[in-house]
Amino acid sequence: MAVNLRIPGPTACPEDVLLAGAKPMVNHRGPEFRELITRVNQRLKTIFQTKNDVVMLTTSGTGGLEAAIVNTLSPSDKLLAVSVGAFGDRFASIGEAYGARVIKQNYAWGEAADPDAIRKALRDDPEIKAVAITHNETSTGVTNDLQAIARVVREHDRLLLVDAVSSLSCIPLPVDGWDCDVVVTGSQKGFMIPPGLAFVSVGPRAWDASKKAKMPRFYFDFERHRRSFEAGETPWTPAVSLFFSLDLALDKMLAEGMENVYERHARLGALTRREAKSLGFKLVCKDERFASNTVTAMYVPEGVQDRALRTMLRTDENVVVAGGQGQLTGKIIRIGHMGYVSEDDILDATRALRRTLEKLAATTAQTPH
Ligand SMILES: *Cc1c(COP(=O)(O)O)cnc(C)c1O
Repeated sequence: MAVNLRIPGPTACPEDVLLAGAKPMVNHRGPEFRELITRVNQRLKTIFQTKNDVVMLTTSGTGGLEAAIVNTLSPSDKLLAVSVGAFGDRFASIGEAYGARVIKQNYAWGEAADPDAIRKALRDDPEIKAVAITHNETSTGVTNDLQAIARVVREHDRLLLVDAVSSLSCIPLPVDGWDCDVVVTGSQKGFMIPPGLAFVSVGPRAWDASKKAKMPRFYFDFERHRRSFEAGETPWTPAVSLFFSLDLALDKMLAEGMENVYERHARLGALTRREAKSLGFKLVCKDERFASNTVTAMYVPEGVQDRALRTMLRTDENVVVAGGQGQLTGKIIRIGHMGYVSEDDILDATRALRRTLEKLAATTAQTPH
């Protein structure tokens, strides 16, 4: 029986997409690869809904976040890092590691960011140069109102750096429509391919900022990537196999149609939440208007050990779910529903969850005190 991998990345990939990655190598400075990355880049722009450059990096999503920071800021620049969970914290930590003066705006885990609070922070401190925000917080299953937040950042004319690693390609994010300066996503979440690539859109204000930005950078330097791409290349050896897989995955996404892809995620998100609640789980997301359509985080019921639950799901049911991160470790499970996922995958997982909870309840009832 195949494993039902229901973690929020790396996600399941279609078999033909995986097999596409097994093709023989080509010269990464030759004509086939030039055509391939040109074709792929064009379609990435369609998915980003942007005319901006989309830089393709061989790295995981975190590398893309690091690139967003080091290409736009100088040490001692002020960065407002809005955090609603573990990935918001990570974005802030990267800023700190490179010497930015990071002002944290923290929310309780399970809450969404408040655009008015961001407006106030920007109004009160004109020195803030950029805002870092997570579109979809994978640790809590919360999607921030990025459209409203982007509007606030524009009103105050600062740079907007967006972590869209677990949203872009699954949840609508019109990069140009919302006028986002830098938007980062990763290959192993919504793109139906393995880990190892990050895609970063870079708008005109971000390019201007990059000319003055003094943070050290080499591998992730946007300008080097832009110059190489003009010549149909990447500056360093890219993950060639992943580009083969990406080429086919993009075909599939665009054949399904992005509106249909978004609609499928909305439907599966709602289904997962409905099933979770009917099993007695409480969602981590406090206000369902902000519930994520790519990942659902839920508190493990009283008296159930999260590790026992996850182990039994894996060994008895072949269903793999994720645990909690940071302050939610041991308290929650998370079910991923992004990328290559269908209603059957979700119902298979929630039925397995029901059987496992019943089994655990039976063992607990039998344990003598
Ligand atoms: C997965 C993820 C990342 C990047 O993680 P990597 O392990 O470096 O790929 C960043 N932000 C969010 C919101 C994510 O879900």
